[in-house]
Amino acid sequence: MFELIKITDKTYYFDIPTKIGVYKLDDKKVMLIDSGLNAKTADRVLKVLEDNGLEVAFIVNTHSHTDHAGGNRYLCETAKCKAYAPEVEDVLIEYSDVEATLVYGGFPCRDFRKKFMNTESCKTYPLSEAPLPEGTEILRLPGHTAHMIGVKTPDDVYFIADVVNGKNAIDKAKICYVYDITTQLETLEKLKELDGKLCVPAHTDPTENIAYLAKINIENLLEIRQRILNTLKEKPMTTEELTASLCRQYGLKVDFMILVMITSAIRSHLVSLRHSGKLDWFIEDYMHYWKIGEE
Ligand SMILES: [Zn+2]
Repeated sequence: MFELIKITDKTYYFDIPTKIGVYKLDDKKVMLIDSGLNAKTADRVLKVLEDNGLEVAFIVNTHSHTDHAGGNRYLCETAKCKAYAPEVEDVLIEYSDVEATLVYGGFPCRDFRKKFMNTESCKTYPLSEAPLPEGTEILRLPGHTAHMIGVKTPDDVYFIADVVNGKNAIDKAKICYVYDITTQLETLEKLKELDGKLCVPAHTDPTENIAYLAKINIENLLEIRQRILNTLKEKPMTTEELTASLCRQYGLKVDFMILVMITSAIRSHLVSLRHSGKLDWFIEDYMHYWKIGEE
């Protein structure tokens, strides 16, 4: 697991299991794309790089989630380097309580902040200041988070973070975390244009057939959307009632952390449907219910 996997002469990755991209700037220095879950994983990454005579020049974070930015602090302190991230994501890595608050929907219960949502705070600089090697391209991939990016290395490898889930992950989880469903659907449509390019998603195998992954991710989101509409056609429900109904329909196993993430994703679906006029809401006896829209 903690090994450098070669893609091209200059581009490698760690699969631990959230992937860290490695681009060789020269014989000694590398740019890292993301930093792994925590100090422990970052330490093992550093050791493998050292064994290969390599040092970290800087880190580019695709987004603020703990499994992508949790190694920032250790790497920045130990390798004496800087980390860079797109707007807002840089702030969320530095003030890491905010990410948990955002997903939880208020001051986050400590039970929610275990392995994930537990980023060690790290000063992270704006992406615009990053000394990216010539030929690097930044791809805007909002939806999974508000400002997530992908990185195309100068030798044409596309690290595309969490924009898609693999088929196995979708089959198992069914309802995956997405911050903004409407934007995510637009991003997935654009992603199809990269078909034929070598894309490295963070949580599934590298592929030259990204259109297929984009398609099954779109289908998954649209299927959930339709299921929400069908369920609310039966009767209006609160967000929690609807979430429980969908979990039952899919036969999901949940713990506290997973249920919070699923509820957050369902809220995002509900807002997307509300904004498109397909849903409306009302308040009765101090309860907030969702119902089919009048349009
Ligand atoms: Zn993520």
